[in-house]
Amino acid sequence: MSSRGRMFAGTVVLLVFLLVGAGRAQSVQQSEPDITKVPAAAQPSDHFDVDAATDAYMNLMPASAKAHGDAYFEGGYWLILWDFLVGALISLLLLNLGWSAWMRNVAERLTRFRWLQTFLYWVQYLLLTFVLGFPLAVYEGFFREWKYGLATQTFGAWTWDQIKGLMIGFVLGGIVVVLLFWVVRKLPRTWWIWGAVVTLIFMVFAVMIGPVFLQPIFNKITKLDDPKVTQPILRMARANSIPANDVYEINASKQTTRMSANVSGFGQTMRITLNDNLLRRGSLEEIEAVMGHEMGHYVLNHIPKDMLFFFVVIVLAFAYLKWSLEWCLERWGTKWQIRSISDPAIVPLVALLVSLFFFVLTPIINTHIRTSEAEADMFGLNASRQPDGFAQAAIHLGEYRKMKPGPLEEWIFFDHPSGYNRIHRAMRWKSQNLQLFTGSQQ
Ligand SMILES: [Zn+2]
Repeated sequence: MSSRGRMFAGTVVLLVFLLVGAGRAQSVQQSEPDITKVPAAAQPSDHFDVDAATDAYMNLMPASAKAHGDAYFEGGYWLILWDFLVGALISLLLLNLGWSAWMRNVAERLTRFRWLQTFLYWVQYLLLTFVLGFPLAVYEGFFREWKYGLATQTFGAWTWDQIKGLMIGFVLGGIVVVLLFWVVRKLPRTWWIWGAVVTLIFMVFAVMIGPVFLQPIFNKITKLDDPKVTQPILRMARANSIPANDVYEINASKQTTRMSANVSGFGQTMRITLNDNLLRRGSLEEIEAVMGHEMGHYVLNHIPKDMLFFFVVIVLAFAYLKWSLEWCLERWGTKWQIRSISDPAIVPLVALLVSLFFFVLTPIINTHIRTSEAEADMFGLNASRQPDGFAQAAIHLGEYRKMKPGPLEEWIFFDHPSGYNRIHRAMRWKSQNLQLFTGSQQ
């Protein structure tokens, strides 16, 4: 059997093993605590204490549920490292075994058009790295999700989603790669600046088409038609000058039990989407709190600001790439049979260097996002006036996020404020607005 034949057979054996194993994967579903009753210490009173109210909410979560969420989230810290290491190993294999140069040679034999050579290289590269990275992807995206009771898909359905992602990678990734190599060939000295510009334009394009053309490939998105839910949301939207006439629902339960919502798109495609898990399991106060948060992203212009932030990151990444690619090619270019920076065979090296860059930048990027999220929280509290709904949401998110990390841990790993901090801020908000809650049914 040739080495490629062995790899194929190995993959088939692995798939069969996984399919059999998948049938046995058990969901560890936690019994759900009733979090909609405001605990005594969080009831409005003249001795309302922010810390005590926060602790009372924290205590609604059984210790086993906390341990469960913490274990899942902390496992994610290691996965950041493993994803990086496995990706780096795959890149080094492709370079050192000459597979990357071999794929380039195949592409060159198939066509004489350079852009098509680049594209054909890309298709082979993506396919090969998809296969080599599949075992880790299966553990991370399938087994681990089932183990923690977060998954809802069969292995077949999950794999189909991965294949759809791969197809999108062929097309959209292919367009970017062809354009970038064209820039490198035409502008050998300033390619890193223009490459950053092309990448940014493409990022804006992807954000714009995402909710309308990409999300529907995986999920069904419908207009939410429940006035009990939509009326308070649209009232809040109008009060905050958000030009929304509709709220959308996405059938996220097809893949996961996670509750979430998001603001997506840009300009004309901007929309607010609730996922069906939130609709099914969240109280109305919780839904309003979450929607207030999402509207905060819109009113505070977080999408354009994020793009500006990432533009700076991308320019830095390209500057670093220019320097590091030249440095590596000088040392190992001949060994890896890479002719120059405009040779598609360089792609695994680019992937390795870019993943190193973003691996090191993890805390910076997380902190940028977490800061926006904290802003959206404050906006959401002011807009929805539902601090208890916020606390409920924080507890629900605790199913997959650690509730009370240390400050350094939060700084490095959290792309949202921790559950404890979110509840604490909500209770502080409540402590200064107690008049809204006294005399009501709360
Ligand atoms: Zn958010």
